Amino acid sequence: MSSAVLEPPSADLVAKYEPVIGLEVHCQLATRSKIFCSCPTSFGAPPNTNVCPVCLGLPGALPVLSREAVELAVKAALALNCRVNPLSRFARKNYFYPDLPKGYQISQYDEPLAEHGSVDVRVDADIRRIGVTRVHMEDDAGKSIHDGFKDSSKYTYVDLNRCGMPLIEIVSEPDMRTSDEAFAYLTELKQMLQFVEISTCDMEKGHLRCDANVSVRLRGAEKFGTKAEVKNLNSFRFLKQALDYEILRQIALIESGGRVVQETRLYNPDLGETVSMRSKESAHDYRYFPEPDLAPLRVGHEWLEEIRSTMPELPAAKRKRFVEEYGLREYDAQVLTLTRATADYFEAAARASGDPKTAANWVMGDLNGLLNAAGKDVCDSPVTAANLGELVKLIASGALSTKLAKEVFTKMFATGETAQVIMQREGLQQISDTGALEKIVDGVLAANPKQVEQYRGGKTAVAGFLVGQVMKASRGQANPATVNEILSRKLASEQK
Ligand code: ADP
Ligand code: ZN
Ligand code: MG
Repeated sequence: MSSAVLEPPSADLVAKYEPVIGLEVHCQLATRSKIFCSCPTSFGAPPNTNVCPVCLGLPGALPVLSREAVELAVKAALALNCRVNPLSRFARKNYFYPDLPKGYQISQYDEPLAEHGSVDVRVDADIRRIGVTRVHMEDDAGKSIHDGFKDSSKYTYVDLNRCGMPLIEIVSEPDMRTSDEAFAYLTELKQMLQFVEISTCDMEKGHLRCDANVSVRLRGAEKFGTKAEVKNLNSFRFLKQALDYEILRQIALIESGGRVVQETRLYNPDLGETVSMRSKESAHDYRYFPEPDLAPLRVGHEWLEEIRSTMPELPAAKRKRFVEEYGLREYDAQVLTLTRATADYFEAAARASGDPKTAANWVMGDLNGLLNAAGKDVCDSPVTAANLGELVKLIASGALSTKLAKEVFTKMFATGETAQVIMQREGLQQISDTGALEKIVDGVLAANPKQVEQYRGGKTAVAGFLVGQVMKASRGQANPATVNEILSRKLASEQK
């Protein structure tokens, strides 16, 4: 059997099996300097410029653990409901690779920073609790660059800027049962890590990397099947595609009398397939041993509580509060808490507007639409939350119709000005003044004798046409409710 699924198993066969999935997620901490030295973590510096004797592993250089990195790692552990160990230990994970000048990664092994956590993940209408086995700290390796150079067919280049970047690894329990659950878990994890500002989680920059462990077993079976580890999943889409492929591959293999071997496989997004990379034996012989240059990491009660006190409200709690406090629908609360910036913006606008539901609709609708079209983030919104709140108030007071408000909002977005400034300059006020509207209505009635006659003859539907004419004559500024009222009064009285 080649790497491809030769004969995709039938739906009946697939239904006989239950997939089991556990994820190992690496995430780069958003610190200013590297984990064991003071080199900057900035992205995109010229190759091999953000390096020093420590991250290059030159003889005699000693690592010093970054306090900021520990604090972010602890925050991640707390966000994931983990128990933070008062004492954890660093270990050397030895392997040879050109992008690893030290010859080992500094990681944590049998005494990790934190353990026994969980994440609640929403899959359709269900909430599934996924166990988090452990969160540990480690440094990153450099990067081998296999293409992009004139002589790339002959040479591989090495950029060591990434050496010593601060990482955490988050290992899940084998608790996921579908690719959708794995997708939802990673989504939740990413959102949480961004919310707490632990990491930017920018997958394109490699700040979030995911390896997936997959096995299948007959439904009802207690024992797990043999797992394969799938690497090179550098997008959410690839994670799902790779899992779906790998699950079918394993089922087809078992059904054809074969046996899944424990191995590391690479996902090839061009082929949509996973391909065997190396067997388990060679991959896992890392010869871990304790890191002699670093003292054990102690996170005492006081420090832990100090870090805990800086934790922001987590997305799940915020969603719940938005529903309870502002009366938002569950779905809207979810959309508005996708990022912390969006949630903060919404809350500020809600407060300024005095009408959270309407503010929510503006944020999710017009604002999001314009932001997307402009390729802007809510942090850079030209319309401040306070200005949006004011706009909502102007609608509520009748100074602006919803239609006019949309026009004004577009101009607010383009200029950054307040609604009041734009309305004054452009003479865009909703006309609710009865006297002024009566004049316009009289004009429209005089100009459309035929329709007035039809109305009198019982064809009251032409009232709609007449309202439209009044709105047009007022350049959309007439208050529609007042127009309706005046029109029906005048038409009724003229009928007599
Ligand atoms: P290893 O010894 O290969 O490192 P671990 O037991 O440490 O394996 O687990 C690594 C990852 O694989 C974890 O995320 C775990 O949830 C997952 N995992 C373990 N066993 C299975 C299995 N049978 N099927 C799917 N995933 C598994
Ligand atoms: Zn350095
Ligand atoms: Mg392991």
